[in-house]
Amino acid sequence: MSKLHIYNTLTGKKEEFKPIIENHVGMYVCGPTVYSDVHIGNVRTFLSFDVIYRYLKFLGYSVRYVRNITDVGHLLNDEDSGEDKIGKQAKLMNLEPMEVVQHYTNGFHDVMKAYNITPPSIEPSATGHLIEQIEMVQEIIDNGFAYEAGGSVYFDVEKYHESHHYGKLSGRKIEDLLSNTRELDGQSEKRNPLDFAIWKNADPSHIMRWNSPWGQGFPGWHLECTVMSTKYLGETFDIHGGGMDLKFPHHECEIAQSKGSGKKDPANYWMHTNMLTMNGAKMSKSVGNVVSIEELRTGNHELLEKGFSESVIRFFMLQSHYSSTLDISSSAISASEKGFDRLMKALETMRELKSSDSSSVDIATWKEKCFDAMNDDFNTPILIAHLFDGVKMINGIAAGNESISSADLELLTQTMNGFVYEVLGLVSTQKEATQDSVTEELLQLLIELRKQAKDNRNFALADEIRDKLMSLSIELKDSREGTTWERN
Ligand code: AMP
Ligand code: ZN
Repeated sequence: MSKLHIYNTLTGKKEEFKPIIENHVGMYVCGPTVYSDVHIGNVRTFLSFDVIYRYLKFLGYSVRYVRNITDVGHLLNDEDSGEDKIGKQAKLMNLEPMEVVQHYTNGFHDVMKAYNITPPSIEPSATGHLIEQIEMVQEIIDNGFAYEAGGSVYFDVEKYHESHHYGKLSGRKIEDLLSNTRELDGQSEKRNPLDFAIWKNADPSHIMRWNSPWGQGFPGWHLECTVMSTKYLGETFDIHGGGMDLKFPHHECEIAQSKGSGKKDPANYWMHTNMLTMNGAKMSKSVGNVVSIEELRTGNHELLEKGFSESVIRFFMLQSHYSSTLDISSSAISASEKGFDRLMKALETMRELKSSDSSSVDIATWKEKCFDAMNDDFNTPILIAHLFDGVKMINGIAAGNESISSADLELLTQTMNGFVYEVLGLVSTQKEATQDSVTEELLQLLIELRKQAKDNRNFALADEIRDKLMSLSIELKDSREGTTWERN
């Protein structure tokens, strides 16, 4: 069998994957900034890493997967000045910043669950690691790569570049960066416009602030990932991932912070997933061209002809390689839906297949090809093409045009189920439909029991049923026509 190869952004090459510790993998992926609902573009990135995580486990690795929650320090426009994204939302909603964080973290988890995205091994948050962040700022200052100005601490990029290589990941040249940047208002305390904040002084309008040796403030956005990846995975770990848009400056700064604080290069393999686009433009909150999870499910969006299940969207996304851009459109998802149904139907047919004395199909070679596809930088579209070869074999055997031995039938079943359910994480539509109809029937039963309780003037029980459902985000709506339910 071929060996696993990964395209490493750091070297610009596809390289054989060699973990630091045999059979173990440490992987860090930048998580969401929880100040608004995640959109379908964010889902693509987390889904890509989910399949990578799943496949590594499928190969037998023991994986520690760390994906953070950014709950402080990410400023508007990803710059060093301006409001904190979460602080701003808290003011708008008149909530505690941590209420905003909790609300959108819950929402993020719901979406991940709906898309069958496996939770990481550790999900640390930036505010939970302030002490470690303050310590790292001090280390960088002590090493001479950062300076304090006006209660903020900035990373000294030019100084760092004298002995290290700023730009090694993104390929940017410091000279070009310098000529492209201009001094912005309010940033004059920086010695150089390229310098970035690792600690920011909190101005009076800032609600999220902590004591530090440099006065009250908050950590710079790039710092949390360096601190949390080092804490849970060590100075150097195997894989660091994130969306392509994070390569510069975020990941470049992470490398600088690690080295600047006297540590080693953080990751051996840097992986970047490409963007989900709509009409060719990157889907993003700031552009405003986002499709929400709800809109995709219901089809209630001007670009969608109908709604699609999460399983179909998952399949649609995996039909393109993580490193290519993927444009979302109703017709493209509809085409995937047909393919998805064909694949799922074949899995049902597979269960009914009868074996013969010998095989006319070559299952061992086919299985090898499935592994080869994934070993070639997690090439899910090629894997799916091979799975459709599997579908052809299944249908051929079912129609009596091909035959299969019992050992081969077992291998076919194992391989198909392994790749479809475990690696690609697809969920059969039948299971989804069953779950939906069971939910519907259970709720109708509860509505009826509540009505009986009311008729018997047992209002305490009736209210208990309503409140308990409410805590599960299911709202009962009473009207003259009767009671209906809605998911909140
Ligand atoms: P954010 O919450 O904006 O920091 O984004 C969370 C993750 O989603 C990051 O890894 C981004 O790179 C990724 N992301 C944002 N927009 C898109 C998009 N349109 N397509 C794919 N990934 C995206
Ligand atoms: Zn990060």
